Amino acid sequence: MKQFTARQSLKQAKRIVIKVGTSSLVHPNGAIKLQHLDKLAFVLTDLRNQGKEIIFVSSGAMAVGLSVLQRKKRPTSIPEQQAVASVGQSELMKLYSRFFRNYHQVVAQVLMTRDVVDFPVSRENVTNTFEQLLTMGIIPIVNENDSVAVEELDHLTKFGDNDKLSGIVAEITKADLLIMLSDIDGFYDKNPHTYSDAKLFQQLHKIDENHYQVAGGNGSKFGTGGMLTKLLAAEHVLAQNSQMVLTNGEDPTDIFRIIDGEDIGTLFTPLRR
Ligand code: ADP
Repeated sequence: MKQFTARQSLKQAKRIVIKVGTSSLVHPNGAIKLQHLDKLAFVLTDLRNQGKEIIFVSSGAMAVGLSVLQRKKRPTSIPEQQAVASVGQSELMKLYSRFFRNYHQVVAQVLMTRDVVDFPVSRENVTNTFEQLLTMGIIPIVNENDSVAVEELDHLTKFGDNDKLSGIVAEITKADLLIMLSDIDGFYDKNPHTYSDAKLFQQLHKIDENHYQVAGGNGSKFGTGGMLTKLLAAEHVLAQNSQMVLTNGEDPTDIFRIIDGEDIGTLFTPLRR
């Protein structure tokens, strides 16, 4: 009964952050999944047209940069990685702008670094930017500012992964729901790529040590986060008394069904909201 109620409550979600992982955007051979990008633009625009406020967190800058530069391997040096990511980011935005424009939806790019949310003044500033964009009916497309973010101890500006970034974006925008699209149907009691009898968690109210124990290394060639960072993001979202659904991004129209209350993926929801 509780499960039914929590799922049904997703119909009321007004402000929704949707995060897509690199594996959903790029074919295993490195080429861009154009049809998929187009479908995402269609679904997110349709949600916007239904009166939802949509914030889209998209990975993929590095993978798209590699594709544009026709490179097979991610470079090892940081300046080279950042250069490839900056090529990829502008190409990715060009593609998104084109697909969203077909559906008459305006998008905006918001590139974030960690210090922006750590310092109260810049945090308030970026929060106001999101509010203004949403008021104007625009879909912000968010990514980490990969071409400048650094991981120095005394100057940490990297989020590290977009799972974390999407959790933080959900927090600062006070989103009702975070939908995380991955290469897997949800969170299982063990890695389903290794164990054929792995069982999907349909709903979790809290995440404990046992869950982290079964969130082994990541399984895709391009993904950087793995299940661990998804659980950390889910914990962050639960701490804000908000909700997250982790599901497979293969068919973006699943997003409609999730918001309609269907049992898809893993729902992380607090016991009481
Ligand atoms: P994305 O690129 O979509 O962010 P990742 O490859 O980073 O996805 O993370 C998803 C992967 O995590 C799955 O494909 C799977 O191999 C791995 N994984 C490890 N443990 C689990 C688990 N308990 N449940 C689901 N997936 C798991």
